[in-house]
Amino acid sequence: MSAAEPVIGVLALQGDVREHLITLAGLGVTARPIRRPRELVDIDGIVIPGGESTTICRLLDVFDLRDPLSKRLGEGMPAFGSCAGMIVLATSILDGRPDQLPLAAIDIVVRRNAFGRQVDSFETDLAVEGISGGSMPAVFIRAPWVERAGRDVQVLARVGEHPVAVRHRSVLATSFHPEVSGDDRLHRLFLDMVITADGR
Ligand code: GLN
Repeated sequence: MSAAEPVIGVLALQGDVREHLITLAGLGVTARPIRRPRELVDIDGIVIPGGESTTICRLLDVFDLRDPLSKRLGEGMPAFGSCAGMIVLATSILDGRPDQLPLAAIDIVVRRNAFGRQVDSFETDLAVEGISGGSMPAVFIRAPWVERAGRDVQVLARVGEHPVAVRHRSVLATSFHPEVSGDDRLHRLFLDMVITADGR
């Protein structure tokens, strides 16, 4: 881990890896794709992108990343998951594959593909707590929602009654894809979380 400039990893097994790397680079931070256990050693935070959570969960095992990543998350390394990334960080998954094992980094139960067929994908403007400057564009693509959140989990935004942005300590998760909307304020929030995290 670096003392000054934070280095952010983007889990690069599948999904919107490039979009997150570009958004982070736009903020002037060093951001790197992560595919190997040894690449986890010197990062200060990790982004888990949108994509397909069943595939990402399976590839965590194939690439031997599950244990070292769980260990770093358990030690408090900040993480930001968007869409499939939210599912991967959750404690448990409804409507997942029976063999789909999440990382349990934040105390939420998520429902995959929760918005159903009619509104499979949509874009809306969302007020997100902790994000100043007005509401932000939020792109939902076969998105999950949070079905239950632990008592200490902060709900930052909802669609209807369903939480779609949550935070607990150093873990941030959104049902939508800030990496494709051109609005980098959630990435900035994550960067602040990384900079102020314990152990830096
Ligand atoms: N439905 C996908 C899943 O279960 C998530 C979709 C996304 O990341 N856009 O992983």
